[in-house]
Amino acid sequence: MAQSEALLVLENFIGGKFVPCSSYIDSYNPSTGGVYCRVPDSGKEEVEAAVKAAKDAFPVWSSKSPLERSQILNKLADLIEHDLEAFAQAESKDQGKTITFARTVDIPRAVYNFRFFASSILHHTTECTEMANMGCVHYTSRAPVGVAGLISPWNLPLYLLTWKIAPAIACGNTVVAKPSEMTSVTAWMMCRLLEKAGVPHGVVNVVFGTGAKAGEALVCHPDVPLISFTGSTLTAQRITEKSAPHCKRLSLELGGKNPAIIFDDADLTPCILTTLRSSFANQGEICLCTSRIFVQKGIYSEFLRRFVAEAKKWKVGNPSDPAVDMGALISKEHLEKVRSYVKKAQAEGARVLCGEGVDSLALPAVNQKGYFMLPTVIAEVKDDSCCMQEEIFGPVTCVVAFDTEEEVIERANSVKYGLAATVWSSNVGRVHRVAQRLQSGLVWTNCWLVRDLNLPFGGMKASGVGREGAKDSYEFFTEVKTITIKH
Ligand code: NAD
Repeated sequence: MAQSEALLVLENFIGGKFVPCSSYIDSYNPSTGGVYCRVPDSGKEEVEAAVKAAKDAFPVWSSKSPLERSQILNKLADLIEHDLEAFAQAESKDQGKTITFARTVDIPRAVYNFRFFASSILHHTTECTEMANMGCVHYTSRAPVGVAGLISPWNLPLYLLTWKIAPAIACGNTVVAKPSEMTSVTAWMMCRLLEKAGVPHGVVNVVFGTGAKAGEALVCHPDVPLISFTGSTLTAQRITEKSAPHCKRLSLELGGKNPAIIFDDADLTPCILTTLRSSFANQGEICLCTSRIFVQKGIYSEFLRRFVAEAKKWKVGNPSDPAVDMGALISKEHLEKVRSYVKKAQAEGARVLCGEGVDSLALPAVNQKGYFMLPTVIAEVKDDSCCMQEEIFGPVTCVVAFDTEEEVIERANSVKYGLAATVWSSNVGRVHRVAQRLQSGLVWTNCWLVRDLNLPFGGMKASGVGREGAKDSYEFFTEVKTITIKH
């Protein structure tokens, strides 16, 4: 099973053991178009075995003290960190992201997810109130819920999977996780470290496969009372429908169509460099990426000129080259979908200023069959165009002009999503006013992607249901009870 030139074949991880599956699907290396590994095509049977293992492990794991669980989470963090380079290489090959992004963002954050929840689980308190006139005190107690179903997407594979596993097991739940069938390798690598970290058998089970088979079997399993899902809004609707007969607890982290609002008093140099990153980092495949840039009229021409000039400097190519800024998109189908948006915008009369269809892309021989495209900037797009309304989830960003604060707030809010926004201005009063009125679960002002994991993360409107973060994850992954004592 060693990772070599031979094809990597993954196995499910159930009850502390790697278990082969009866059928497999191919998973591709997006930067070459070649098959990278074979992923179990799990279904009901495999999910059933994983849920049973998780149920069996629950009594012992849930009765451990938070400190014991914390020590195990910290050990797992250390082990992943020790193998950081191997994890980063695998994530880059599996997802198409640059090795630099995997080394500096994905894997360090996966490590930090375990460290963060190992610490935060030690610091929660419950509530207590007194009713002296009745001779009563009331207090709340929290307990883990049971077997948690965790479903994650392909864009930040280990980062997002561990953002779920860490709080779930820190709270004393056991889990059945299903990573995206397109990016399963780092989850499988993590399973190889669980025993050494001291995670008892059955506490973390990973079932690989498609959403339609493995994902849905997990969502519909009667012994899985809660589902934490990150992915598209469409899938979330299906999960909500399928889980409804079981009245499951759901946390849904979904898509975005995130605005950047740039006022004419913004400090343009950091604004342009950050907005480039917020538009194109990880090939634009981050739910928090900017895809609608509203620029105040006085600086519109200057912004556009400088922004396009900088976008043209981005180097697209072999993700394993540390000098490359952008790697490959996840799949051929996704690349075609992203390209189709650019074509639609052109057909509507918008101007493509750089990137797709305008500039040429020179790729090394090994990457000729990879799924690459250039950072693409579109101007003169109407607000009701699909490019301004739908999540593209690729390296495409639209730039439009606005006049007034009132006008831009209304336009920024005029989409079905509400995940993340950025506001650029040196006027503190304005920054507060605008941030308060944006329909967005996260607002970054004069920065992007600066996160304190203590605070709630999640979206409004079609971008999500519920929040995750220190206290929010604790509340989601535990059941609260109110107890009254009369003395
Ligand atoms: P997706 O919804 O297609 O798949 C996500 C996961 O759900 C995968 O593991 C998939 O196999 C599984 N799945 C698919 N159908 C299922 C079903 N019927 N039942 C159960 N599971 C099912 O999303 P994707 O294409 O992998 O990821 C991209 C999307 O994720 C984008 O919309 C992006 O904005 C969103 N996303 C959101 C956040 C956030 O925190 N809000 C973070 C990252 C990505």
